[in-house]
Amino acid sequence: MEKSGHSGLKLTIVAAILAFSLIPLFGLGLFFHIQFTEAFEEKITRTLRIMVEDKRNVVDMFLNENVNQLRNIAYTHTYKEMSDSDYLAEVYQVLAATSNAFVDLGVFDASGEHVAYTGPYKLSGLNYADQEWFQNVMTKGRYVSDVFLGHRRFPHIIMAVKRQEGVQTWILRATIDSEMFTDLVRGSQLGEFGDAFLVNQNMELQTQSHGAAGVMEKAVLPRQGRFPGFRMVEFVENGRQMIAGVTWLQTKNWMLVVAENPEEALSPLVGVRWRTFGIVLAGALIILTGAVLTASTMIRQLNEYDRRRAESDAALMQSSKIASLGKMAAGVAHEINNPLSLIRESAGWIQDLLTEEDPEAIKNFGEIEDSLAKIDKHVERARNVTHRLLGFARRMEPMQENVNLNALVDQTVAFLENEALHREVTVERRLDSNLPLVTTDSAQVQQVVLNLLENALDAVNSQGRIILQTGYDDREARISVQDNGCGIPKDMASKIFDPFFTTKKTGEGTGLGLSISYGIIKKMGGRISVESEPGAGSTFTIHLPLAAEE
Ligand code: ADP
Repeated sequence: MEKSGHSGLKLTIVAAILAFSLIPLFGLGLFFHIQFTEAFEEKITRTLRIMVEDKRNVVDMFLNENVNQLRNIAYTHTYKEMSDSDYLAEVYQVLAATSNAFVDLGVFDASGEHVAYTGPYKLSGLNYADQEWFQNVMTKGRYVSDVFLGHRRFPHIIMAVKRQEGVQTWILRATIDSEMFTDLVRGSQLGEFGDAFLVNQNMELQTQSHGAAGVMEKAVLPRQGRFPGFRMVEFVENGRQMIAGVTWLQTKNWMLVVAENPEEALSPLVGVRWRTFGIVLAGALIILTGAVLTASTMIRQLNEYDRRRAESDAALMQSSKIASLGKMAAGVAHEINNPLSLIRESAGWIQDLLTEEDPEAIKNFGEIEDSLAKIDKHVERARNVTHRLLGFARRMEPMQENVNLNALVDQTVAFLENEALHREVTVERRLDSNLPLVTTDSAQVQQVVLNLLENALDAVNSQGRIILQTGYDDREARISVQDNGCGIPKDMASKIFDPFFTTKKTGEGTGLGLSISYGIIKKMGGRISVESEPGAGSTFTIHLPLAAEE
């Protein structure tokens, strides 16, 4: 029952440790996860912003520079010069030497007539009065078109400037290959699925995009009105989620889009995520092991404590048994002693009276004398018992004197020497001559040794052997009584110190010897230990502390 209570406690301890350490650990893991994700997303936004702003500047600069260049040519040459195709071809040669942006050059008069042309197409002589770009440049003075097909039926962009030369109004126009812009905006590639392109206000592509078949197609991106600065937009391209930084050009109504696949961009985060997960998992495992080890150690200590408490409870019970026995013994002994004295006195009186009688005159004189002797013998026996009991009861405060235990053993053996001789039992002494004096109560220790010796004599048959031995170490002195008698059966070993426990015949054993002896030695701060092998003999050892204990 104790055990299962503790195993429940073990579970509680483990659960408590886990709860108090795993919750913060997982919390921390989650916190790091969120922080990393936020940091990465912020980094992606920042990168896209820098890229989109850089590219916008490049495209703006490209447009500005080329329009200005065109304007400079128009203002440094006269209509007369420029309307001559050979002269125009020379000007184009000079232009092409510094910039490969222009595909061709053309000059138009105010009525839209194409008066001179240099370039790969056959376009001179055509009239452009109804073309959108022509009308635009005539009103605005300078114009850059979106991608369109025009007369040549091929996607291109044109740049045109108007010059007022006296009464003569004329227009210089150049064509720019739309591929130029594709190269400009693509620049550095953004990973495998990255994309960068330009759209006009109708979201029609001005450069190539991975999401459409070609320029002038609709871009997959949701329509955006013109806005200042930078914005993040999400859309799906070729079934892939994309995140894009978008911004409007300053020089033209085109929007620049630089897009990235977030999964690809966040791929380093996946590594961090797994590492964080690994660290949290390893931490959890270490905590779990620690919790189980701690709980096991605590439970082991608790069990050890329980065991010691059970032992001390048992010892306490033994002492309380002895104490109550002492009280009872004193009472009984006192009550019995008085009648015993009276019986003995009366028997003595009868004895005295008999000496005055003539033995011949009394018929059963011999029998009466025998009976008196028996009364005397048995009263003596009974007094012996009551004296022991009284001795036990009085033994509450032992005396303190310096005792030579070797001499004490010698004396005690002397008491029983005749008895041993009679029973043909050899008593051997192995006394340690260096044994120090022990501060104790010699009469009481003697009583204990006598008890042990009597028990040993009872346990051996004739021709048995008893060895009395003394010895010591730095903590205690020892007297042991070893016999080769019947030994003590295992199931009886725990009972022999109990009061009134005896295996001897009624009238021979009282069952008090060992319990009294135990009480005496305990009171002196010592103990009695027993080793016994049933059938081979027993050894009882008295351990007395050398330093007087409180
Ligand atoms: P008693 O001697 O009056 O029986 P004790 O308390 O001295 O009472 O002993 C209790 C019991 O312990 C004995 O009856 C005996 O069974 C056992 N015992 C004691 N000493 C020995 C011994 N040396 N060898 C075998 N049994 C013993």
